[in-house]
Order: sequence, then structure tokens, then C-alpha cells
Amino acid sequence: MPSNTYSKRMTHKNFIVTLSILILFACSDDEDQNETTEASNTTTTSSNNSTSNNTSTVGGTDISILAEKFYYNSAVSVVVNDDNLVISAKDLPDHKSAYYNTNNPLYESYNEPNNPSFKLNPNNILEQDIVMTIPRFPKIDNSHEATPMGPMGIAVNSVAIFNQMAAPGDDILEELNTFDQYEGHPAPGGIYHYHIEPVWLTQTLGEDAFIGLLLDGFPVYGPVENSIRLTNDDLDDYHGHIHDTPEFPEGIYHYHITDELPWINGDGFYGTPGNITR
Ligand SMILES: [Zn+2]
Ligand SMILES: [Zn+2]
Repeated sequence: MPSNTYSKRMTHKNFIVTLSILILFACSDDEDQNETTEASNTTTTSSNNSTSNNTSTVGGTDISILAEKFYYNSAVSVVVNDDNLVISAKDLPDHKSAYYNTNNPLYESYNEPNNPSFKLNPNNILEQDIVMTIPRFPKIDNSHEATPMGPMGIAVNSVAIFNQMAAPGDDILEELNTFDQYEGHPAPGGIYHYHIEPVWLTQTLGEDAFIGLLLDGFPVYGPVENSIRLTNDDLDDYHGHIHDTPEFPEGIYHYHITDELPWINGDGFYGTPGNITR
């Protein structure tokens, strides 16, 4: 675990050094003060080519098989309805964190000596009441709606998945140093979330495993596929592509996590997002 996380940290560090200038444009958005559903990152009018060619062959795949992948502990549950999946999540990570209250059994002080830049943010993990209603038969939406501030998806362990934006005035690349040893952190209000690879999940489930769902119903997989670690160049503008997966032998659009910005999603949802209350 530490060595894996260490290399990831170094990746971040190199990344910060080499690319911070290039991505400054992406750092002005709002995550922590405006966590509700309005989208304030730019909607990209897509000139995508490869994906639209496949419009007629994707969409409509029943994703209900993924319901059983969620942990179904006290922190998360999924109800499968005719047209949607309703995921209720308390957003309580099943791994240790320096952001749990010190009297919580899952509290662990930050113990990754290889990131001397780590700095605890002032928030603690607090139980949430997130309900996501996600299309059961996700379909491409050519408007590719921007992902919202706050949760844009949910991981199998009940933790919210956020996009690549930081709070106003904050730089997401500096916020990397507030991520705990499992690469998450809480926002004001206590909502714990991942912007990047949730290494606890990829370590326990596998680096190629199904990790969670975005609000549009398309699944998120880990960074590895056929023993190869993917890069952004392997993916489209929305950070995914179409082919078969173990859960979908007929093929499905799916997102992949990569080590580089934007990590989980790119220029908006591939499909039509469902809705979220919290
Ligand atoms: Zn954050
Ligand atoms: Zn893939």
C-alpha cells in the first residue's frame, strides 16, 4: 500500500511541476461552497467523432447487474426499479482516514511519510444522506451535460465521486496534498469524496475492477485494462470508451480512471444524468 501510494504521490508531484501551467484554466471552479447540483463548469459542445459513430449501438444496456457490486453494508444500498437504480449512500468510507473523528475506530493519523507536503484540511467526515436516481438503461446524450459540483457519481463503498474541479480560489493540484492515504478528503459539511483513483478500492477489488457509477448510469472502471495502465489518450473527451467488460460481454460505454487530470470524467457526462438529492 505505501509503495503504491508513494508512486502515485510522485506522479502527482511530477504532474504539478510539469503541467500546472497548462491546466490553470481548470482550477477556478467551485466544489466546496457550491456542492449542489448546478453545473458551473463549462459545457463542451462536443465535436466528438468516434463516439457519435457508435450512438446507435450503445445505450439501453441494462446496468442492474451492477447493483450487486455495491457493498450493501449500512452505508450504501441500491434499489433496482423498472427504469432506474436508486442508490442511497451515507458517504462513509470503509477505509481508515485522518479525516475521521479521532474517536472513530477508522481514524488513523496520516501515515504516508513520502508526502511531506500533506496538510490536513479543516473538515471531518460526516455521515451524509445522498440519494442518486440513475438511469437503468443509460444512453448517450449528445449535449454531454457538464458534471455538477458536488457528487457526480458514487463508489461501491458509498463514497461520493467528484469531478476535477476545486473550490473557488483553490487549485485542485494543491488540494492533492490534502488527500488522505486513500486519496480522498472531506469538503465543508463533511462530505468525503474522491477526485482521483480511490486506491483502497483498486487495491482491494483490483485495478481493473468496477469502482462505481456516474450519475448518467455509465460505469467507472479502474485504470488498468488487459494488464495495461490506460492514459487519457486511450479515452474520449468524456474519459471513456466502448467495448466489452466482464459485467457486459456485449459491450458498454464506460469511464476509466487514469493517473492524469481529469482523472475520472472529462468534458461532461457521456449520457443523460439522473438526479441527486442530499
Ligand atoms: Zn475535493
Ligand atoms: Zn475500457
